[in-house]
Amino acid sequence: MPAGGLNPAADGLLDRYGRRATDLRISLIDKCNLRCTYCMPEAGLPWLRREQLLSAEEIRRLVRIGVEVLGVRELRLTGGEPLVRKDLEEIIGGIRADHPELPIALTTNAIGLERRAEALVAAGLDRVNISLDTIHRESFAELTRRDSLDKVLRGVEGAAAAGLTPLKINAVLMRGLNDQGAADLLAWSLQHGYELRFIEQMPLDADQQWKREATVTAAEVRQLLSDHYELTPTDEDRGSAPAERFDVRRRGEQAVLGRVGIIASVTEPFCSACTRTRVTAEGRVMSCLFSTEETDLSALLRDESATDADIAHRWAEAMWVKPAAHGTDRPGFELPGFTRPQRSMSAIGG
Ligand code: SAM
Ligand code: SF4
Repeated sequence: MPAGGLNPAADGLLDRYGRRATDLRISLIDKCNLRCTYCMPEAGLPWLRREQLLSAEEIRRLVRIGVEVLGVRELRLTGGEPLVRKDLEEIIGGIRADHPELPIALTTNAIGLERRAEALVAAGLDRVNISLDTIHRESFAELTRRDSLDKVLRGVEGAAAAGLTPLKINAVLMRGLNDQGAADLLAWSLQHGYELRFIEQMPLDADQQWKREATVTAAEVRQLLSDHYELTPTDEDRGSAPAERFDVRRRGEQAVLGRVGIIASVTEPFCSACTRTRVTAEGRVMSCLFSTEETDLSALLRDESATDADIAHRWAEAMWVKPAAHGTDRPGFELPGFTRPQRSMSAIGG
């Protein structure tokens, strides 16, 4: 604890290692309509009851405290699948009314997005990251356990038509499942002007099948793309951005076709530059994806005697003890000391 104790109004969401969290990710719901094998089990999970989920008003208040007291500078809404929430437009509209300048992004699988994209933009949404791991129907169905590729593609088109650009596509590769389709996914993204980012798979699958040696690494992703494309690292400063970005050229040609990002969460962790604070759908702060500790804010939000300052203080305390890396004192999912969180990515909020 700093001398004199925590002072959230002055220090924001500072931790013991000097990192300050300014990037807030709120999970709106744990449910999802896909069952991606790297995330959810086939049968789903025991879902939270409706009254356990933070309400639109509670989320709005949390964001207000985050921005006005704790120095939050950007917001991402995620899940589970945030589009499963019928009040998503209301949630975004309320936050936007309070914070005209706050960048608000959504991470989604895009199912049904074409029907809601315009309303979401009107409510104040700025950008979307859409998860799409392959453009091959069979691999998509195998990977997500649902034959829903067409629905996702319609959602992507709807988002682009509504102006949710630059549109980012997130892809996780799994060996033998969709890895051989990586170059096709890149070709499709370049053709539409979307920025594709490959994310190394982390041990956050509810089935607990993750193995370090099965992870398709950033180096392998570059290799998989190299038959068709030449990747040149961009010279931009990465700051706290997890993705290393590359200019993409077709082999032997000069023209830059677009960019691709690779997020090496496993092989080149970026924990020392982390600026994230996460709140789960039931209102618990997780200072790290791999935290084994969670700090409940919902009880305070529902206690009429608790002030914004009380909530800010509890939140700041939770962040002060943020682990150095991967939930422990050093990065490395394969090292002794690493404990898998009990929650899956869907139950934390990716
Ligand atoms: N349902 C939405 C979606 O899929 O975009 C939002 C929630 S999902 C948990 C957020 C992101 O987490 C997705 O891009 C997904 O690919 C990623 N993700 C899920 N499980 C993961 C894992 N084990 N390793 C790496 N990324 C994962
Ligand atoms: Fe659902 Fe997203 Fe998890 Fe896939 S990654 S199961 S779309 S929450």
